[in-house]
Amino acid sequence: MTVLRMEDLDLKGHRLLIREDFNVPVADGIVTSDQRILAAIPTIELALEHAAALLLMSHMGRPAEGAFNPELSLAPVAHYLSKHLGRNVRLERDWLDGVKIQPGEIVLCENVRFNRGEKDNDKDLARRMASLCDIFVMDAFGTAHRAHASTVGVGHIAPVACAGPLLSRELDALGRALHDPQRPMLAIVGGSKVSTKLSVLESLLERTDQLIVGGGIANTFIAATGREVGQSLYQPDLVGDAQRLLRLAHERGSGIPVPVDVLVASAFSADATATVRRVEEVRADEWILDIGPQTCAEYAEIIRDAGTVLWNGPVGVFEFEHFAPGTRAVAQAIDQSTAFSIAGGGDTLAAIDQFGVGDGISYISTGGGAFLEFVEGKTLPAVAMLQRRAAEYPV
Ligand code: ADP
Ligand code: MG
Repeated sequence: MTVLRMEDLDLKGHRLLIREDFNVPVADGIVTSDQRILAAIPTIELALEHAAALLLMSHMGRPAEGAFNPELSLAPVAHYLSKHLGRNVRLERDWLDGVKIQPGEIVLCENVRFNRGEKDNDKDLARRMASLCDIFVMDAFGTAHRAHASTVGVGHIAPVACAGPLLSRELDALGRALHDPQRPMLAIVGGSKVSTKLSVLESLLERTDQLIVGGGIANTFIAATGREVGQSLYQPDLVGDAQRLLRLAHERGSGIPVPVDVLVASAFSADATATVRRVEEVRADEWILDIGPQTCAEYAEIIRDAGTVLWNGPVGVFEFEHFAPGTRAVAQAIDQSTAFSIAGGGDTLAAIDQFGVGDGISYISTGGGAFLEFVEGKTLPAVAMLQRRAAEYPV
């Protein structure tokens, strides 16, 4: 796939409009987790070295369109950036009709989702955004799966549209893992619900050598083998789909391993005690909240033998201390493996942080939904836009 890259363009003297993902948690006006902002700093610094003027835009949360909402203002981000970059980053509340900006200045445009038409990719809104710049830079992988005015529409209209370094890096790493993987390729898909990840499971079954399911998803697979899952989170209406996937995997010779033992609780609670049970011995009044020690050991072995590991979704309720061991074991096995490993997903990243294993994972994606859609083999709308624009660009 060919897209123009910001690093390859002559930025000199140009006005750049960069779409970043500054959707960070904020408490009392202070940014409480700066991962996403930090990830964008190299892009901003590179742009500053060359470009004349820098306009940054991002969404924050899910405000109602058409009105300013102080709770979802990007003011804390402007404050953070000013401090971090050691220069004033001005927050512009009304920016669609043009922004006064001097060479060398950085302006942060207020939350793009305050604008009516953002989510519908309104053409007029996109045109107003595009008229602010000479070059549009899409650098927000986390929103690349959404065809909004600030991610796709503006790129179609701006004089030039290119990928920022953060987005390029993400596309390269994911492309490497998916299109030319070191075999055997293993995918671990956990999390709460099969329904949100059914199409991912289908597509991964096709392209991986081994698939492991975890969490609430595994519970649905346990039920699909005719076992009792008691009070556990599972999706009865998707048991048929789980059976079909099990059959397909069996035909392909890989199989989808269903946990042999689990940790159960007598209530869905942080202080519930964990009891190890063989999977066939789970009782009707129990909740399966994690995988058991034997299953952990089996998964660790599969992970050790893999050439590529793709991980999305915790295999247990890792937020509860007693039910964190399964996810911890998976995270540590990936951390210690020599495989090219890639992880993504909001809760997956929280688990990686919690267990302090980030250093041993080859690539941690910033995207949740975008990561899953990429893994499914879908072309992300913002990437499709960049490819189209690259094809028009005179070389
Ligand atoms: P990600 O954000 O990484 O894609 P998901 O949002 O799909 O992951 O799922 C994460 C959630 O799944 C976590 O909050 C975790 O507590 C929950 N979960 C995992 N295993 C179970 C289980 N056995 N029962 C209930 N919830 C579970
Ligand atoms: Mg999640």
